[in-house]
Amino acid sequence: MPSIVVVGAGAAGLMAAIAAAERPSTGSGPSADVTVIERTRDGGRKILISGGGRCNVLPAALEPDRFVTGSPAHLLRGMLRAWPLVSQRAFFENDVGVRLKLEDDTAKFFPVSDRARDVRDGLIALARRRGVQFQFDTSFTALSPGSDGWTVDTSRGSIAARAVVLATGGLSVPATGSDGTGLRVAADLGHVLHDTYPALTPLTSDPAVHASLSGLSLPVRLRATWRGKVTEATGGFLFTHRGYSGPSVLDVSHVPVCSRLNGDGADARAVVRVAWSTKTADEWQRDLQLSSGLVVNIVAREVPQRLAERLVKDAGMPADRRTAELRRAERTALVDLLTASALPWTGDEGYQKAEVTGGGVALDEVNPRTLESRRHAGLFLCGEMLDAFGPIGGHNFAWAWATGRAAGLGAALVT
Ligand SMILES: Cc1cc2nc3c(=O)[nH]c(=O)nc-3n(C[C@H](O)[C@H](O)[C@H](O)COP(=O)(O)OP(=O)(O)OC[C@H]3O[C@@H](n4cnc5c(N)ncnc54)[C@H](O)[C@@H]3O)c2cc1C
Repeated sequence: MPSIVVVGAGAAGLMAAIAAAERPSTGSGPSADVTVIERTRDGGRKILISGGGRCNVLPAALEPDRFVTGSPAHLLRGMLRAWPLVSQRAFFENDVGVRLKLEDDTAKFFPVSDRARDVRDGLIALARRRGVQFQFDTSFTALSPGSDGWTVDTSRGSIAARAVVLATGGLSVPATGSDGTGLRVAADLGHVLHDTYPALTPLTSDPAVHASLSGLSLPVRLRATWRGKVTEATGGFLFTHRGYSGPSVLDVSHVPVCSRLNGDGADARAVVRVAWSTKTADEWQRDLQLSSGLVVNIVAREVPQRLAERLVKDAGMPADRRTAELRRAERTALVDLLTASALPWTGDEGYQKAEVTGGGVALDEVNPRTLESRRHAGLFLCGEMLDAFGPIGGHNFAWAWATGRAAGLGAALVT
């Protein structure tokens, strides 16, 4: 009987397996016997596609207040901080053998090689060095508790285990292997799940009113308002063929998504407003009053030319309007557009493009220190299947690494 079965060889599962197979620091006993079950042929598919193929392994600093959860926030903070960033970095550099570099402009850590594959392969190699067995191309289907542990049903038969770590991820990008089986099994075993939804996903606009600007990117400030709550993000914004993407859009996207899924009446839709530059309304008013020349050229000092032309047009002005001819109503309309354009979003790209899943197993369903289920001894839950996600920038891997490690160490205590 393998002592520990880890289901899922994604970020959280690989980390759980590595931690579970760590030699016990206290005694002379052997490390646990660990088997990983993974549906895909090689695991870690999200690691491979992360950060545009470069893998943003960690953020420069943890920002627990920017995480989103429907569970008590103090539980999230405790789980996230259980493995400090400095120790996580040291682990990648010393144990995995992947040197990291900090990109100052983005405040993110990437492998020096800029290759996500080095991170995925490094984790699998470390797990193997610690004796972890992998069963790839094997789908987990069901889990049943017994008197002496667990029976894990897979497409290749059943496996008995004393402890099980569920690390099957959420529902985002199903092509990477996650289809929600783990969430369903957790629910069937009586755990409370908070409604799931796509998060960190691009927004769409139908009709695609800004399709002509597709490919244009710029830094912006976004404010998404729903049910009186304001969520803000700053950073890159990208016009796409179908709508809007980029880090700032992804970071607030859960607000429109949740309004689409749950809103009704006056609350039916979140309002997302964009400030296209760092200038305030007063600064723009002054600029447009005190400068001379074409209005579009003044706007284009702060935003890309094509967007400047579009904003001038949307404000109801001819392209050759000069500041000296600017009417008060035109100036007000333009300043409103520059500082608080309402994004005409109508939908989102859903789980197909979501970087993470919102909702999931409620955090108070697990022991925050060991990640052991409060309902079933010997069962551990970690990673994206838990009810938490963070902003773009390495925070979601930090969550997967920290919770995966805690679950693996917790599982090792069972055997
Ligand atoms: C395009 C993209 C880019 C991203 N970029 C970043 C980034 O740069 N930085 C960052 O911090 N985060 C990033 N993320 C988010 C990050 O990838 C996830 O938060 C993280 O991978 C979640 O880890 P996990 O192990 O919980 O789940 P997953 O990575 O989804 O792993 C779950 C594993 O379980 C396996 N599995 C699922 N069901 C079964 C089953 N029934 N049987 C067997 N195996 C199963 C899956 O095949 C998969 O290997 C990105 C996500 C995407 C989609």
